[in-house]
Amino acid sequence: MFNALFQALPLRCQLCHLRLDQRNYPWCKTCFQSFPKQPRCQRCGLPTAYTQESCGRCLRKPPLWDRLVCVGDYTFPYDSLLHKFKYKGQYWLSSPLSNLLADNIENPAPILLPVPMHWTRRLLRGFNHSNLLAQALARQLNVNCDSGLLIRTKATPQQQGLTRKKRLSNLKGVFQISSPPPEHVALVDDVVTTGATLAELSLLLRKHGVKHIDVYCIVRSQGK
Ligand SMILES: [Zn+2]
Ligand SMILES: [Zn+2]
Repeated sequence: MFNALFQALPLRCQLCHLRLDQRNYPWCKTCFQSFPKQPRCQRCGLPTAYTQESCGRCLRKPPLWDRLVCVGDYTFPYDSLLHKFKYKGQYWLSSPLSNLLADNIENPAPILLPVPMHWTRRLLRGFNHSNLLAQALARQLNVNCDSGLLIRTKATPQQQGLTRKKRLSNLKGVFQISSPPPEHVALVDDVVTTGATLAELSLLLRKHGVKHIDVYCIVRSQGK
C-alpha cells in the first residue's frame, strides 16, 4: 500500500526538491551520491577506520547478536528521513529506507522479527515503525516477517537520554516469546544506539535456542 502511495507522489526529490528522473528512490542521483558511506565493524555496526569483522570493543566484549547491518549514522539525511517517517506520518518512506538497507544485506535471515512495541504505545502512535520497516524489508529480501513472535509485556519509559545501565535495568523481564523461534533470525529496528533493547531480546532468543542473530537497522549511532 505504501509503495503505491510512493508511486503516486509527484516526481520531486525529497531532499533538494528538484525534479526526479526515476522512481526507485524518492531522492535524486546527486543527493543520493552525497549520502555518507562509512566503514564499520560488522559485529556491532559502529564506525571503524576500515571494514572489520570485529572491532577491538567487540573482541573484548562481544555483543549478544552475531552481526549488525545498517544504512548509516544518525546524521543527515537519515535523521531527517526517519523523523518524517516516525513523526510526520510519511509511512511510505518505509519502502525506500528498507530498500537501502536490503542492498547491504547478504545471506538474509529467513525470518525477520521487528522490535515489539507495547500495545498502549502503538495505540498512541497508531503504528509500530519497526514493524513497517520489517514488513517492507521482508518483501525486498523475499523472506518472512513475524511480528507476533516477540511480545513486549510492559510499556517502558522513554529510553532516550538514559545511560546503557539504566536502559538495561528498565528492560528486565519486559519481553516474552509467543512460540519456539527458528535457529536463524534477524531483529529489525529503525535506530540502534546503546543496543540495550537488542541485548535483552538477544538474551531471550538465545535462551530459546536461537543460534544465529542478525540485526538490521536504518541507523546505528554510538550510545552513552
Ligand atoms: Zn536531490
Ligand atoms: Zn564492533
